[in-house]
Amino acid sequence: PDKVMHKLVSLAKRRGFIFPSSEIYGGLSSCFDYGPLGSEMKRNIKELWWNAMTRRHQNIVGIDASIMMNPTVWEASGHVASFNDPMIDDRTTKRRYRADHLIENHIEKLRRDGKDADALRVQMTYEACGASEEPNRALYELIIDEGIKAPDTGSGDWTEVRQFNLMFQCNMGAVADSSGVVYLRPETAQGIFVNFHNVRESSRMKVPFGIAQIGKAFRNEIVKGNFIFRMVEFEQMEMQYFVKPGTQAEAFEAWREERYQWYTRQLGIRPEKLHWYKHDKLAHYADLAYDIKFEFPFGIEEIEGIHSRTDFDLSRHQEYSGKNMEYVDQVTNERFIPYVVETSAGCDRLFLAILSDAYSEDVVDGEERVVLKLAPKVAPVKAAVLPLMKKGGMGEAAMKLRDELAESFPVQYDDAASIGKRYRRQDEIGTPFCITVDHQSIEDGTVTVRFRDTAQQERIDMSQTAAFITAKMA
Ligand code: ATP
Repeated sequence: PDKVMHKLVSLAKRRGFIFPSSEIYGGLSSCFDYGPLGSEMKRNIKELWWNAMTRRHQNIVGIDASIMMNPTVWEASGHVASFNDPMIDDRTTKRRYRADHLIENHIEKLRRDGKDADALRVQMTYEACGASEEPNRALYELIIDEGIKAPDTGSGDWTEVRQFNLMFQCNMGAVADSSGVVYLRPETAQGIFVNFHNVRESSRMKVPFGIAQIGKAFRNEIVKGNFIFRMVEFEQMEMQYFVKPGTQAEAFEAWREERYQWYTRQLGIRPEKLHWYKHDKLAHYADLAYDIKFEFPFGIEEIEGIHSRTDFDLSRHQEYSGKNMEYVDQVTNERFIPYVVETSAGCDRLFLAILSDAYSEDVVDGEERVVLKLAPKVAPVKAAVLPLMKKGGMGEAAMKLRDELAESFPVQYDDAASIGKRYRRQDEIGTPFCITVDHQSIEDGTVTVRFRDTAQQERIDMSQTAAFITAKMA
């Protein structure tokens, strides 16, 4: 698995998908920059999500809320009090760990060794839920009683467990006192909840309806790592669907189905790589929660959460803001605070999932190659125009074709090195179609289209190239 990740990270950097942030200064832990191809591909992912979630649905609209909000929002949402992770330090190495992760890994190990870990699992779930009086103490005692040591050092000399709040704080204004404290939002969802009435009124929405948003979120994660899987600054694609209380289970099932189909049908992710996970330990606001997990090279991990959030958020905002958050049904005159079904996906995690699902090594034309088998809709470059040679009018004809195609989609022109080498370069960045302009093109106005996955070629009329590719991308 490390080897696969290593290949992905190095390809991502070499070909301009993802660079370490501020690399010339040694970088910054868990921060990354999307390069020319990465930013193009990320836009495609966001565009596909936006279209699927807003434009396709008559009753879902989008917003783009600010990252910094009135700090009371985060008291109402419960983040100030409880958006914490239990943290523990190894005294010998000064390394920091998540106490719950240490225990979960320990349980996994017991299972792998064929030992019974069910009792421990139950206890752990209970403690981590905060159901015990002193969860920190309880987690600490579990770690000591089980003799759990730090994974990489073997030391068992632990500090106490402390709760660590994941929100980044900054100060607004000239005076750095507590009155100027603002937070960088740790999720985009609250920007949607506080705008519930603004959006409903301005867009004349009737329950059930949804509000969607794509934007940055920030979390001071204790344990970072796995490339762009867990970052401190990342992008979420969230949709909150407001329904009449009592109908949430039905809406939940419908969204579960729709979101799964999006991954497989729209993005072309192989179904065998996706897994459902039902939460048995629910967050304080939820009455039902499933995750869509993906089989990353380093393990099966969450890419999207689908949560039935009840009326928790709107009720709390009503309580903290003093504003009425009820919805009035125009037909029946019923009043209620809507229930919410949320779909919450991480754009960067999905990017990594797509990249690792697409990565393959095979042999074509008797040569080994690396190929990204990206769905054409997701691929950063849709086509490359390659003159067989620059001379004989082929260079000019190819450049002219490139300019024409560029009106419709991202396209590259490449005349450097042998044609085989140029195909390999495009395979490696996942370009689905290579258009070659050869001697015959000059004579009869045809070109060859080479398909990335099969390396098969087809001759078509040059004037039909844009239409041909557009049709294949639908
Ligand atoms: P995890 O348990 O992995 O920390 P979470 O359950 O806290 O994730 P949610 O709060 O449900 O995550 O956030 C919704 C989505 O946002 C996740 O499914 C994930 O795709 C994304 N996400 C959350 N935290 C991060 C992060 N640190 N880096 C990148 N993406 C993230």
